[in-house]
Amino acid sequence: MSLIAGVGFFALGGCIGHILPRFPFLMMSRTKGFNTHFPRHPEAIPLSPQLTQRILHMRMFYWMGLIVVLLPLILGLVSVRWGDAAFGFGLWIASGWYLLNRLQSLFGGQTPPWTKKMALELQVLSNQAEQPGACCNWASPSWQIKGVVCMNCNSKLSNMLRPDLGRKRSERRPIGFFRLLLSDGYPMVSLPDEEE
Ligand SMILES: [Zn+2]
Repeated sequence: MSLIAGVGFFALGGCIGHILPRFPFLMMSRTKGFNTHFPRHPEAIPLSPQLTQRILHMRMFYWMGLIVVLLPLILGLVSVRWGDAAFGFGLWIASGWYLLNRLQSLFGGQTPPWTKKMALELQVLSNQAEQPGACCNWASPSWQIKGVVCMNCNSKLSNMLRPDLGRKRSERRPIGFFRLLLSDGYPMVSLPDEEE
């Protein structure tokens, strides 16, 4: 009986340690007032200064997790020492894994789903659309799931996949939440090999 309880507490600790540091990115931009400038998920988003700003915000929420993760780490330590050891150990494993994962992206691992480079590229594309050399006279670049496309002439301007942008997701609540947890904000399509 106590073994089952132990496993249960371990799993509970693991879940909390997994979700807590992702809280900023999961929650902070999903309220309605935060998204008035954007069409509803999953529609394409026109390039705009607000979109560039959103990328930078998502990037900030992403790195904010490094501060939030201290909470389950400390709580885990306290639990192992004075509370329920299985629960604390679950917290520790999950948040320690998170920490390792984030730190390795500082040392040349997988890049975060939102980067400064991405924001910069959007800005450049947006500027190009307003200059004489644009794809067409009424260029209106929009970010679809598989890249940036001009809504007017349909030319593909960039192959940059669209990560989660912090909009409230169109799926029903638990499903949208689990998708986010699984994808961690990364784009959820794998491109079939496309000619450049
Ligand atoms: Zn065009």
